Order: sequence, then structure tokens, then C-alpha cells
Amino acid sequence: MKYNPKINDEVASIPGFADIHPLQPDATVQGALRLMWELQQRLIEITGMKGCSLAPMAGADGEFAGMLMARAYHLDRGDTARNKVLIPDSAHGTNPATASMCGFEVITLPSDADGNTDLEALRFSVGDDLAGLMITLPSTLGLFDSNILEVVQIVRDAGGVVYGDGANLNALLGRVKLGDLGFDVMHSNLHKTFTQPHGGGGPGAGPVIVGERLMPYMPTPVVSRRVDADGNEQYTLDAPPKTIGRMGAFNGNFGALVRAYAYITTLGDEGIANISRDAVINANYILSQLKGHYDLPYNRTCMHEVVFSARNLKREHGVSALDVAKRLIDYGIHPPTMYFPLIVEEALMIEPTETESKETLDFFIEVMQAIAQEAQDDPDLLHNAPHDSPNTRLDEARAARRPYLRWRPAE
Ligand SMILES: *Cc1c(COP(=O)(O)O)cnc(C)c1O
Repeated sequence: MKYNPKINDEVASIPGFADIHPLQPDATVQGALRLMWELQQRLIEITGMKGCSLAPMAGADGEFAGMLMARAYHLDRGDTARNKVLIPDSAHGTNPATASMCGFEVITLPSDADGNTDLEALRFSVGDDLAGLMITLPSTLGLFDSNILEVVQIVRDAGGVVYGDGANLNALLGRVKLGDLGFDVMHSNLHKTFTQPHGGGGPGAGPVIVGERLMPYMPTPVVSRRVDADGNEQYTLDAPPKTIGRMGAFNGNFGALVRAYAYITTLGDEGIANISRDAVINANYILSQLKGHYDLPYNRTCMHEVVFSARNLKREHGVSALDVAKRLIDYGIHPPTMYFPLIVEEALMIEPTETESKETLDFFIEVMQAIAQEAQDDPDLLHNAPHDSPNTRLDEARAARRPYLRWRPAE
């Protein structure tokens, strides 16, 4: 995640990929369609699912497709009373937004003291009106929900659809498949797990990968392959029988698909499994070295990311997670995600990725330890950070309300 090898961009700029037009006849773009078909197959293998549509253009778009499929599935069976969707309190904001855009009522599920889904609350919340569950594995707390098999069973027994938010798929690659755990549908943020420069909000790709039950409802197009008697392959853009329709114009974000395909193919099965190994080891190394300096709300082995809390610094020295993040800029380090997940006070979510070396991890750790010490010795040093950047503290409310969207010459 966040590592973007140049070869992916080079492959995506090959004229046969970069210069084709979405309205060209299928017969003239067989190579591009074959790439899409092979990517569908690789995603199906990686996730243990049965079908895949590459149409959605972001994770949130994949969620939208997935929950429209869940709705279509229930309505198709005449099951019209299912209007509730369960979502853990640690979820990314797009999950409840998606469920409500699809017309569902969102019920928030609490996490237990260990950061797993609270099974008592889950059992209490399921019934004949349950449409499904949207859950991220590992969770946004960086934890593998040790109750996940029971969670899936309870939702399925109640007639619900299990949606997997695959944003954290890099923690599972080559080891755990959501399809094997009984999930019905998931998305993969190709731009997070399989590389794609996506600073500034895009472009990305969020294919949906589905189990048996939701196959007929996938968004169009799905690329199919036919092999004739002489062994000639033919690739076509098809619509599943009860498709929810299109997610946008044409065939998804093709350039992003080429990059993901290049990354997956370059790594091979062994390289793919090394992603999860290295990402998880890196995060746990940071956990072990920063524990004691920062509060660790869930004191257990983490997956590919670790969520600390700066509440100890806040309580003792009046220094916030924002101050720590701003001070990191003085040391030349891009700050991590802050104040998310929402259930962790003064959250600092650290996701080192699989490609960081021991040297960069050690540098980051030293700096974070130094900042915790500075909070004690000279809190104002942190309150006024960053000191060396052209802009110091930005007015974030004004930046959101009155953005400058184009360059203007100085007056
Ligand atoms: C990033 C993310 C999303 C949304 O994905 P986009 O590709 O940004 O639309 C959803 N859920 C989680 C857990 C995420 O991290």
C-alpha cells in the first residue's frame, strides 16, 4: 500500500493500453479485455470468492455496488422487510453513508473491550428485518476480529448478507480469504492494496468480488472468456442476468486496473503472501517500540497498522495528537492518520506498509520517542510546530469552505 513502482506506470502507458477508446469494438481490444479477465480471476483467487466486476471506481463505489446487490438479492426473493444494516462503531464513514444511500437504516454495533465485535450486542440486533452487516477485516483498529466466524454465522443465520470492506486486504494477502470465512461480497481498494498513486483523491478502483449468492446481480460489465473448439480465446464485455446496472460510464478505471495487474503479476503468489507478512511485522515492530511512550488502547498483537492514543500526552502535558503530527513535519516525516477510528481518543493510526526498511522504521520510532520526550520538556515546541515549513498551522475550516481551486498571479 502506498508503494507505487514505476514499472506499473510504464506498463499503463503502453500505447495499446493508453490510447484505446472505450467505444472500440471488442474484437480490436482483445488484449485489454484479457487483462481485465485475468485481473478478475486473480482477485477471485486472492479472496476465495466466485465472481468479480471491475466496474466500481473507488472503495466507496464498491461498497455502493455491494449494498445495491444485497438489496437486489433480498427484493428478488420477495424479502421486502429487510431494511437494517449493522455496522461496527470502528467503521470508516463511507460504510454508514453507503448503507443509507441504498435506503437502509444503520444500526451501530459496539466493539468489546478487546476491540472485537460485541457478540451479545450482535445477537440482540439481528432479526427478520436484517439486510446485512458491513464489516472491515482486519478492523480499522488494526485488529483481526477473533469472533469473526461467529459474527458471520449469526448474520447469515438471520438471513443477512455479509459485506466485507476490503480496504485492509494487504494484512490478509495469501493467508486469509474472506470467501472462506463466509462473506458474500467485498470490495478491494486496488489503489491501497495493489498500488496506484492516489494522492489528492484519485483515481482509484474498487472492484467488487462476490460469492455464489450475489453473482447474478454484479454491476456491468463483467468480462467473460470463451474458448472455441480450436482453442481460440475470445473476450467480451457482458451483463450478469439480474445486474444492478452500471456504476459509471464505460468499463471502470482502466489505467488503475493495469497498474494493479502489473503489481500482482510482478509479485507472484509468494510475493503476494510476503506483503501481509512484512506489513504485519512492521506494524508490530512499531507497536513494541512505541508502547510505553504513547497509550495503546488495545494491548494485543496488531495486523498491518497499530492505533495509539496521545491521550497520555494530552492529560499530562496538554499536547494533542495534532501537535504530535505537526511536529513530525519538522523531522521530515509525513504524519499518520489522526483522530480516526473515532472510538479512540486522540488517535494516531500508524500504518507502516510492507515496503519500509528497518532503517526507515527505526528513524520513525526514534523521532516518535523524541517527540514524546519533548512533550514533557517543552510542550510549546509542539504547540507551535511545524517550525520550518512555509506554512505553519493552516486554517482547516477556511481551507474546506473557501478553497483556492486555481492558480492566480500575485496581485
Ligand atoms: C479508504 C477506505 C474506504 C473508502 O475507500 P475509497 O477508495 O477511498 O473510496 C472504506 N473503508 C475503509 C476502511 C477505508 O480505509
